[in-house]
Amino acid sequence: MSRNKQHSDFDAIARITRLEAPWLHAPALETVFAVLKAGGFEARVVGGAVRNTLLGRPVSDTDIATTSPPEDTMRLAAAAGLGVYPTGISHGTVTLVAHGTSFEVTSLRHDVETDGRHAVVAFTDDWSADAKRRDFTINALYAASDGTIFDYAEGRKDLAAGRVRFIGDASARIREDYLRILRFFRFSADYGCGVVDAAGLAACTELKSCMIRLSGERVGAEMMKLIVSPRAAEICEVMNLTGILEIVLGKHGHPERLLKLQTIENEMAIAAEAIPRLAALALDTPGEAAEISRKLRLSNEANAILMATTTPHPALNPNAPERDAKALLYRLGPTAFQRALQHAWAASNSPATDPAWHLRYRLAEHWSPPRMPFTGADVLALNVEPGPIVGKVLSAFELWWAEQNFPSDPALQKRKLADLVRTA
Ligand code: ATP
Ligand code: MG
Repeated sequence: MSRNKQHSDFDAIARITRLEAPWLHAPALETVFAVLKAGGFEARVVGGAVRNTLLGRPVSDTDIATTSPPEDTMRLAAAAGLGVYPTGISHGTVTLVAHGTSFEVTSLRHDVETDGRHAVVAFTDDWSADAKRRDFTINALYAASDGTIFDYAEGRKDLAAGRVRFIGDASARIREDYLRILRFFRFSADYGCGVVDAAGLAACTELKSCMIRLSGERVGAEMMKLIVSPRAAEICEVMNLTGILEIVLGKHGHPERLLKLQTIENEMAIAAEAIPRLAALALDTPGEAAEISRKLRLSNEANAILMATTTPHPALNPNAPERDAKALLYRLGPTAFQRALQHAWAASNSPATDPAWHLRYRLAEHWSPPRMPFTGADVLALNVEPGPIVGKVLSAFELWWAEQNFPSDPALQKRKLADLVRTA
């Protein structure tokens, strides 16, 4: 956790008993609270929304816990005209849509039986039992509709101290769901301060081999969240030392390269991006992209970015002539050019403060390529039959034009196009 607030602010978190936040009074949330209350049940916001509001951080989604069993939640919500989607009914989660906003509403539960991946659950009206089945103390915080905070595991104290701690015995909790190993590192990266919790780390290390039973989707989703954290490199270093990163990636990672990339991002005021960060951490060659993408179930688009970012090119170096860099920039476009340049920079021996790399990176912002002077119509005007040949001539011209530093003389351009048509 970056301690950008005064220490006293953080200590004050432990003493807050009532949450004040505009989202708590949004009509959509008030409607859900009211519908469940009218049916004789209670609802509270739980998890990330409470945790982040206490820290003064943005809230992305509002998860709700309720004493009503899923069937009652669905019945009451449908009768009140809300959207009802049984998105995770087997573990008691129903998605409700009110005023265009969706909420995951989960019935209070305790786990009856777990096998490390799935849980057989029983519903309950006992809030503290529901808190005990959650992963970390900082995630077992609830807020009632009037903002009253319920903290069953000293979550506020841990949040104030930057301590990410399992609720109860760490090993036992991990054995219930091995994904918690990755969640431990993800939450330590985002909310922890200083060294990670020793008991949690020991349990994660002891049980790491069981992670192979997890689905690639769940592992990939957690890893994509972890990697954009400001402490990603530091935490990945811990994961590397314990052999956990190797299980996630299927190979040894390079946290030092990720750290260098993060230093470059800070130096250049670049927003963190998951895929370029993953490329720095995990890829030695573009040939490895497909395997990592398969393992973490990344999209085709993410795989393409991984490949493009890691493909080496002589122009991805500030010592290369500027015209070569411009030709590559033209070919890749500014975003892909900057990602690939950052990647090469992170792998180089040059520091993040290197002025030559800075300038080369900013080239993509300061220079925009001229417009391609010809279209298909210009090729057809040279008596070329319509067909694939038109595209081929245009591409060959474009390549030549970029490599020649975009000559602007129309006569020269026309001569070259005519030459290419003749030899096509
Ligand atoms: P964010 O949405 O900001 O990433 P969050 O805390 O809301 O953080 P979610 O993954 O949305 O995280 O989960 C909501 C809550 O459900 C968590 O705060 C936690 O209490 C509980 N939870 C989620 N996944 C697990 C898990 N694998 N084991 C135990 N509890 C979990
Ligand atoms: Mg959430």
